[in-house]
Amino acid sequence: MKAVVVGAGIAGLVTARQLGLAGWDVELVEKSAAPRPDGYMMDFFGPGVEASERIGLYPRVAAVAYQIEAAEYVDAAGHRTSSLDFDRFSRLAGGKVLSLLRPDLERAALAALNDVEPDRIRVHYGVHVSKVWSDDDGVRVFVDGVPGVKFAADVLVGADGIHSIVRAQVFGAEEEYLRPLGMRAAAFIVTEPTLNPGLRNRFVLTDSIDRVAGLHGLRTDQVAAFMVYRETPGPTGRQGPLSPRDRLRREFAGLGHAVDRVLELCPEHPYDDVVAQILMPGWQKGRTVLVGDACGAVSLLAGQGGSLAIAGAALLGDLLGPVTSTEAISPALTEFERRWRPVVKEAQAAGRRAASSFLPANRAQRLLRRWIIRATHVPGIDRLVARQIVGRIAK
Ligand SMILES: Cc1cc2nc3c(=O)[nH]c(=O)nc-3n(C[C@H](O)[C@H](O)[C@H](O)COP(=O)(O)OP(=O)(O)OC[C@H]3O[C@@H](n4cnc5c(N)ncnc54)[C@H](O)[C@@H]3O)c2cc1C
Repeated sequence: MKAVVVGAGIAGLVTARQLGLAGWDVELVEKSAAPRPDGYMMDFFGPGVEASERIGLYPRVAAVAYQIEAAEYVDAAGHRTSSLDFDRFSRLAGGKVLSLLRPDLERAALAALNDVEPDRIRVHYGVHVSKVWSDDDGVRVFVDGVPGVKFAADVLVGADGIHSIVRAQVFGAEEEYLRPLGMRAAAFIVTEPTLNPGLRNRFVLTDSIDRVAGLHGLRTDQVAAFMVYRETPGPTGRQGPLSPRDRLRREFAGLGHAVDRVLELCPEHPYDDVVAQILMPGWQKGRTVLVGDACGAVSLLAGQGGSLAIAGAALLGDLLGPVTSTEAISPALTEFERRWRPVVKEAQAAGRRAASSFLPANRAQRLLRRWIIRATHVPGIDRLVARQIVGRIAK
């Protein structure tokens, strides 16, 4: 059997690996010229931990994890206003909460393609899928700059993220499924040996209104930055003619020396996208299926994008991998959706809860957030909050 997987993000890479291990031939097509270096730290717990242990990916993932002791909110002078003890949450969650830099997780998933026998998976970087076609005879994929069909297969997997072209072509326009949560998020990494040591082993977040910048010192002399701000759409709003970098410089002015410094070094086109969820009534149609953010983005505020991408792709591999006839494809995809949808739904609800309190709109809301964070140091309340954050695993 043969599959085309569109998108070599975490979901696409793991889907390709699992299908390859099951004996499928896979064409994995990615529009970026190489693995993308952007992204911030992601929490990794729950379904992704269980799934990566089951499929033998956990050692690779754990090897690139960071040990975070605390998340600290600071004022513009750098003084701490409140802090969250990460170690405690990790213990409450059975020690299975990892902190991973998104590009590290993607590279770990890419390296894991070596677990598959050579030539089963062909990875095509720098190939932008522009059109897909699916009928009873199979699927066909067209790419930018190449006339006619570029790839043909039995199954098409859309693992192409929140702005999925596969979704748009097979299921309908983005506006039907994308639910913005009212903010944008940017992430980039800069080399800053002076700031780096003071930002290691903890997340430092600005205790600010309507925007938050997060900084973390990496193992090298780099600093990873993460910035979330309210979205005001329209030509005269914040998404006006400014470049992403200039917009970030405007939005995040006045939050202190460290933020000013990383913004000085910010690349011209950092990752900068709407914070949104994807809500769809169906994830598979005929020979096409969506996986990861393409069908069930939970938003980065749910902190589970990477974990769910791995777990969803692993389940898809479990169900599609054993298929050896075209008649068996559709039932396998239906079963995938039946089993995976409740998990995504629960995480999306958590993402919406997080979105409602993530950016305080005024001083009163900011005070409330400080109070809640301080209360997490009280035994009992810490357990309650851990359960809210990590869900069922914090029993
Ligand atoms: C650059 C980047 C930075 C991110 N930073 C963060 C972060 O800091 N924190 C966080 O929680 N989440 C972040 N995310 C989202 C996070 O990666 C996902 O929530 C999670 O990993 C699920 O991944 P996915 O594989 O489903 O989708 P994605 O990670 O979005 O991967 C989709 C892939 O498909 C490719 N693609 C899209 N369209 C096409 C096309 N037409 N043809 C070929 N390829 C295509 C994209 O280039 C991308 O590599 C980021 C995503 C990206 C792309």
